[in-house]
Amino acid sequence: MKTIGLLGGMSWESSQVYYRELNQQINQQLGGLHSASIVMINVDFAPIEQLMVRGEWSVIGKVLVRHCLQLQSAGADFIVIATNTMHKLAPVIEQAIDVPLLHIADAVGRSEAIKSIKKVGLLGTAFTMEQDFYTSRLKSKYGVKALVPNAEECFVMNQIIFDELCKGHFNANAKQQYLKVIDKLADQGAEAIVLACTEIGLLVQQHDTSVTLIDATHEHIKLAVNHAISCL
Ligand code: GLU
Repeated sequence: MKTIGLLGGMSWESSQVYYRELNQQINQQLGGLHSASIVMINVDFAPIEQLMVRGEWSVIGKVLVRHCLQLQSAGADFIVIATNTMHKLAPVIEQAIDVPLLHIADAVGRSEAIKSIKKVGLLGTAFTMEQDFYTSRLKSKYGVKALVPNAEECFVMNQIIFDELCKGHFNANAKQQYLKVIDKLADQGAEAIVLACTEIGLLVQQHDTSVTLIDATHEHIKLAVNHAISCL
């Protein structure tokens, strides 16, 4: 089995999901006492979030490259970064490391759920929704167009992620705001909604809505599990 290099802490609320489900799914596949082979770094998110607010992406890139190299030195056969937003820096990271980076947008693009879908709604941080590192990858590699909420809704979605979800607060009002935007994107023609932030799935689940949800976190974990056991 390959060793997964897991870069977490952004936020640790969702890194827990990665840690638990990587182990659960490896165990389901291999049985017995099998669990995932993981080396993990959990960053302190506060200074990184401050750098994001100030737009100091090149500094964040250096921090993430350093951690990915540490994971590689510790024996990681490939890297999983447990956040969507930080994939903005995927090209910088990929250039610096010698092992593959499993890109979260590829996990979504290759998922069963998105097959035959041409238009999705995409929810995430303002960085993920408003910049094009994620949406253009879905379009150019997988032919999937991503609709995003308007500027005011992006602001609210983003605020909920950083002020509530990343702190482990999951409240009914936030859920209603997300569900309203999900319905609106579906009305605009989205055939499914990509939860492109690793914390959204902790707030909104499939049973909350009739609109199909594609949770990037779960697709990323599935891809990592397949990759980890592909050499068996
Ligand atoms: N975990 C989030 C994501 O998937 C947001 C926090 C971050 O910016 O890393 O994008």
